[in-house]
Amino acid sequence: MTDLPSDRPATRLAHSGRADKSCYGPVNPPVVRASTLLFANTAELKAAAGTRRTYGRHGSATTMALEQALCALEGAADCLLTPSGLSAISTTLLALLQPGDHLLMSDACYEPTRALCDGLLTRLGIHTSYYDPLIGSGISELLQANTRVVFVEAAGSLTFEIHDVPALAAAAHAQGALLVADSTWATPLGWDAFALGIDVSLHAATKYIVGHSDVLLGAILCTAAVQPRLRQTYAALGLSVGGDDAYLALRGLRTLAARLAVHRENTAQVLAWLAQRAEVAELLYPPLAGAAGHELWQRDFKPEYACGLLGVVFAEGISRAQVNRLIDSTRLFGIGYSWGGYESLMIPCHPASSRSVTAARWQGKVMARLHIGLEDPADLLADLHQAFAAMHTV
Ligand SMILES: *Cc1c(COP(=O)(O)O)cnc(C)c1O
Repeated sequence: MTDLPSDRPATRLAHSGRADKSCYGPVNPPVVRASTLLFANTAELKAAAGTRRTYGRHGSATTMALEQALCALEGAADCLLTPSGLSAISTTLLALLQPGDHLLMSDACYEPTRALCDGLLTRLGIHTSYYDPLIGSGISELLQANTRVVFVEAAGSLTFEIHDVPALAAAAHAQGALLVADSTWATPLGWDAFALGIDVSLHAATKYIVGHSDVLLGAILCTAAVQPRLRQTYAALGLSVGGDDAYLALRGLRTLAARLAVHRENTAQVLAWLAQRAEVAELLYPPLAGAAGHELWQRDFKPEYACGLLGVVFAEGISRAQVNRLIDSTRLFGIGYSWGGYESLMIPCHPASSRSVTAARWQGKVMARLHIGLEDPADLLADLHQAFAAMHTV
């Protein structure tokens, strides 16, 4: 399926990474479970040397079908699959940085990314400074001679800031640094990462790509220039993904555009309801007109693929205990980390405790993160209605 007559994402989702002719006709590639691969003779064994078709760890028809599908969607030169989203981040940073190097990390990064920078990377002599996600071209003043990577997140974890990616890319590239993005919230459809100047686009495929809350998986999508370094580090770390997990991710990927359309529509209805509530001070959802980051989002993202993850800042006077009561009172919103599955979720969050340079902005704010799933929106609204009422019984 190389020559598709269309570039449109929904068509690509249906036609990329399909079974090839050697599979005798099924729509989908087989689930390959293999460590050892057998060769007909020693000449064939020798001929395979240096290719990926020597040993199970280097990939299979299933994992390669998923890699191809993700490459086709984002226009990447290569895709490396990792056992989790976090391992996609750690593998990339280990590949692109060495002792003595400097990393500029968004202050709104996913918390385990911060733990990686402050822990393992620090131990290896790689220094991290955190920057305000709203800094834009002001990043130039923070770039040092040894800065090798600027890392952005689309959008900021918990706080949903939209980074000015073209400005960050221009400043980073001007001094030979690379721009790496955690594109999980954007999904492979929500923005054109490489056109915006990103060199490596990472996904916690665990979220919307898998889409059913049943697999942990990461994807590293990259340009040709950085591909050799990433493949080398990936091989050295012995990373590999099983055929069953790749198959489930490929199955989830088929419906990504269709699911996002429902997430987006349900989210719009929930936001309209939340906006009327006196308990709510601010909605953190850049696709919403008037929300923080909306202008940059409109410039850089594709509106039809907005997702269902958002933040709520509660009004002054609403206590953490009341928000806990709200969350404990819902019947359709699960209480749990991760997101991007078909189900709705809600958790309290405290971003100020995981920020270095922007902590003051979030200090004292009572907040929650919501994932709006694929349930009937009328039921979600009814559930929110009764849970908001329960809040006032604390
Ligand atoms: C969940 C998440 C990750 C980590 O993914 P795992 O598969 O859980 O390791 C990384 N970045 C972001 C933005 C996430 O939401």
